[in-house]
Amino acid sequence: MPKVGFVSLGCPKNLVDSEVMMGILARSGYEITPRAADADVLVVNTCSFIEPARKESVDSILEMAEYKKFGRAQKLIVAGCLVERYRDEIREQIPEVDAVIGTGDVEKILAACEGETVHDSEPSPTFLYHDLTPRILATPLHTAYIKINEGCDHPCAFCIIPQLRGRFRSRRFESVIREAENLAAAGVREINLIGQDTTFYGEDLGLRNGLPLLLERLAAIENLDWIRFLYCYPNRITPKLLDTIAAHERLVKYMDIPLQHASRSVLARMKRGSNADAFLKMLTRIRRTVPGVSLRTSFIVGFPGETEADFRELCGFVREAEFDWMGVFAYSDEETAKSYACDGKIDADTIGRRRDELMAIQQKISQRKLRKKIGKTFTAMLEGPSAETDLVWTARIEGMAPDIDGKIYVTEIAGVNDSSELPSPGTMARIEITEARDYDLIGRAVEVFARPPRPNGLPEPATASSQPFPILA
Ligand code: SF4
Repeated sequence: MPKVGFVSLGCPKNLVDSEVMMGILARSGYEITPRAADADVLVVNTCSFIEPARKESVDSILEMAEYKKFGRAQKLIVAGCLVERYRDEIREQIPEVDAVIGTGDVEKILAACEGETVHDSEPSPTFLYHDLTPRILATPLHTAYIKINEGCDHPCAFCIIPQLRGRFRSRRFESVIREAENLAAAGVREINLIGQDTTFYGEDLGLRNGLPLLLERLAAIENLDWIRFLYCYPNRITPKLLDTIAAHERLVKYMDIPLQHASRSVLARMKRGSNADAFLKMLTRIRRTVPGVSLRTSFIVGFPGETEADFRELCGFVREAEFDWMGVFAYSDEETAKSYACDGKIDADTIGRRRDELMAIQQKISQRKLRKKIGKTFTAMLEGPSAETDLVWTARIEGMAPDIDGKIYVTEIAGVNDSSELPSPGTMARIEITEARDYDLIGRAVEVFARPPRPNGLPEPATASSQPFPILA
């Protein structure tokens, strides 16, 4: 069987595309290998939304090209968002690349690997996978992403994602439900719903309140412990959505709402609208309707025309809003974004200073919030041995999303005397917090809950086999 190795870069939406491509190839007899040196075919699924991501993608392609020049690999395929921008340049400038497939051509991965000519798809990607599309999870087997929609119709001036991912399009309601049921039957305990804007789900299908309706149905799936959704658009946080989250235990008390800025004038230049006061009222409404909710957001600093006063307003807003998790991006001047034509560009040093200053404010907030958890006990999902050492496991409370938020380092698991007694990743436990760091916690599992039997009667996977399918490190 030919062996194929995948490098998957960028966001979870791109990871799902890699999982679909792995599924399509595995169904056709390919073996997925974690070692580039063993691969006959190498696939780099790229990211390209800002400069640092583009650089990482080009570096990865060139690294894999070395394996083709000096190793076993016969083919090098480049997929993803970089292709949507630089399809011809990649072909011209990196001769080791045998084929390029865009975000709309995911299903053409087999043809590309087989050396068939892959014709570029229509100008705007339209591909959307469904529950019968083969897919191999690259996440640990107790947690999985489900992409519920693709593309975006918002006009944010700094963003080129609509050019890379196409117009907004939702997956069929029942297809998402069936996929979630299949994943739960396969042992997945946590589902993370993703899309460019999950709060717009179903509108293009004529569904009103599509996301709350979807969440209600997903909350009824027996063997799921946690259902989370990421990437909310701020002006779509409806009372119906909040009431739905509050009404169902399986819907985690967690919201990810990228706000991008808080100054009215900067938000207007970003073509996003709103302002700090409106956002504070929204956060108060969320915290009142969903007690104990954890809130994540992200901001861009250095947008053209951002004055020191605008930045000060953003700092004041962050101090007042007290998010649990926050990301800050330095503005990246993308030539195909509307903001490229804006005046008032800001120098890199000022942008860097503002990013560091805003993160320093959040660091203090995070420390204070996490310290308040010391001595308390929380229900958490055990995730398995930490990347640092097998002696320490990691876990997450429902207020911690995978890959982007902090985690709990578990130094002790009650009732476990040797590795043979270790629970399966994805098992729920009560964890007493003993220490707090800037963004992580330390604790000990004082009680481990038995995992409910899998609906299909299949035995629980032994700890080792719950490792994710191999993506090249
Ligand atoms: S909503 Fe997000 S993906 Fe869509 S244009 Fe705005 S920033 Fe880009």
